[in-house]
Amino acid sequence: MPNDDLFCKIAAGEESAHKVYESENVIAFLDINPVNPGHILITPKKHYNDLLAADDEILQEMILVTRKVAAGIILAFDEYDAFNLKLNNGRIAGQVIPHLHWHIIPRKSGDGLTQWPGKQYGEGEAEEVAEKIKNQLA
Ligand code: AMP
Repeated sequence: MPNDDLFCKIAAGEESAHKVYESENVIAFLDINPVNPGHILITPKKHYNDLLAADDEILQEMILVTRKVAAGIILAFDEYDAFNLKLNNGRIAGQVIPHLHWHIIPRKSGDGLTQWPGKQYGEGEAEEVAEKIKNQLA
């Protein structure tokens, strides 16, 4: 059952988008407010709220489409030779559209974008944090 979100509508052809690639399951289209021109969104046609809800098969296809499209962006523009892949998973992380997608953001020298700042672990904290996560993955 499709949801009513914008990306379901784009996938269904009910809302327009500048698509650059489409397969049976995945679409890639221009972000309407690009960080840099050529900023692309990769999304499954089927509705998943986010990465944690998605099937293995769709994630595999999405990452292969991502590589294909990212390589195409680099080839299409002389000024780009790098890109960031960004997923905002959950509202607190900045996810606005509640339909799994990630961003390919093409990068060029001097584009003014910065990386997010890093913090430092306190004494013994890294071991504790790693252990907590490992326990959930065992
Ligand atoms: P996120 O914050 O990760 O949910 O990203 C949502 C992205 O969707 C934003 O970067 C928006 O600029 C983009 N966006 C919103 N509406 C549209 C639209 N109609 N077509 C293409 N991109 C859109």
